[in-house]
Amino acid sequence: MDIKEMTEEFLACPKCLGNLLYKEIEGKKILVCKNCRVYYAVEDEIPILLIEDAKSIDELYIGADENIF
Ligand SMILES: [Zn+2]
Repeated sequence: MDIKEMTEEFLACPKCLGNLLYKEIEGKKILVCKNCRVYYAVEDEIPILLIEDAKSIDELYIGADENIF
């Protein structure tokens, strides 16, 4: 099991307790909550699941990969 499967299987959004999507965008690892339209940083393989550190995915550059949201 890799980190993507592990995080998606065992972690939930601290706001809505919904599923998170593990994504790598421009070398940055993040966990995305589609419900809240926010993402959480993953630093040194450790997800920072803090509501106050959530950032809006609207600010995120996602390039052509629009179907992830
Ligand atoms: Zn959420």
